[in-house]
Amino acid sequence: MKTQLESIQKFSHDSILGAKTSIDLDLVKSRTLGKSSDFNGLMKMLATIPKEERPEMGKLINTVKNELEILINKKQKDLLKSERESSLATQKIDSSLPGVEFPVGTKHPITQTIERITEILGRIGFDTKEGTEIETDFYNFEALNIKEDHPARDMHDTFYLNTDHVLRTHTSPAQIHEMESNSPPIKIIVPGQVFRCDSDVTHSPVFHQIEGLYVNKKVSFAELKGTLSFFINELFGTTPIRFRPSYFPFTEPSSEIDVQCVMCQGKGCNVCGHTGWLEILGAGMVNREVFKSVGYNPDEVQGFAFGVGVERIAMLMHGINDIRLFYENDRRFLEQF
Ligand SMILES: [Zn+2]
Repeated sequence: MKTQLESIQKFSHDSILGAKTSIDLDLVKSRTLGKSSDFNGLMKMLATIPKEERPEMGKLINTVKNELEILINKKQKDLLKSERESSLATQKIDSSLPGVEFPVGTKHPITQTIERITEILGRIGFDTKEGTEIETDFYNFEALNIKEDHPARDMHDTFYLNTDHVLRTHTSPAQIHEMESNSPPIKIIVPGQVFRCDSDVTHSPVFHQIEGLYVNKKVSFAELKGTLSFFINELFGTTPIRFRPSYFPFTEPSSEIDVQCVMCQGKGCNVCGHTGWLEILGAGMVNREVFKSVGYNPDEVQGFAFGVGVERIAMLMHGINDIRLFYENDRRFLEQF
């Protein structure tokens, strides 16, 4: 039995020292000390040897077993240490590699343009108000001096919801709401979506306008000119502008305002139709009929109103030639702003 123990001891000792990895050593450990190990076999054999030899033999087996256990633990520690060291040496972290970038959204160019315009006009006292997108025939047309048989109604390509309700074709109805519920002085701008049944490279069925309205006891066309000149120069930098006589039912006199072409500096190009000028605003003195429809006395108040097409301004500011790009949600386009 003693010889058997010695051979088990030698074999186990060699296997432990010969283990190349911590996984190998786990296998050796279970083979040496586990339930079906040779040691367990020896313990069972103890019962078959003479009674007086059993204590000494048992003691010897335990001593060998303990020695092997200590050896296994020491070897395990060494193996784990060298394995960790070699994994650190081969799996280096390159801290100069770029990190994982999370996509960050940007403000839509239309939103940016609206914010820029309201910021400029806010500096000279215009409060920003909100209008409603569904209007009655009265607010969208009638009160703005666009009577039922007025040809301007055809120009607007209106979306009718029913016989009396429309999707607003312009932000001007907000003027009527504001004047109905307030007395002068009124100095507001109203940005918002408007709707017209029209679609091509320069027209979209949904687009954005900013309405401006100033009403007080005495307001002159010179103030309109001064306000819009300031606005345009802040927006495009100092640049020549011109006022052209025009017609709108809700203003009298009316004017369209051109800015010198920002693409060709007035020399003439495709964008400006070789005129050197770009139309960017419609404006005028509030028509007396409009004052009457909101219950103001047109002999006691005066005012001016203007309307800006936001997409038009954004296209000119950024040199964009197709309005539909704004609505296609192509991130390659949107991320440029
Ligand atoms: Zn031009």
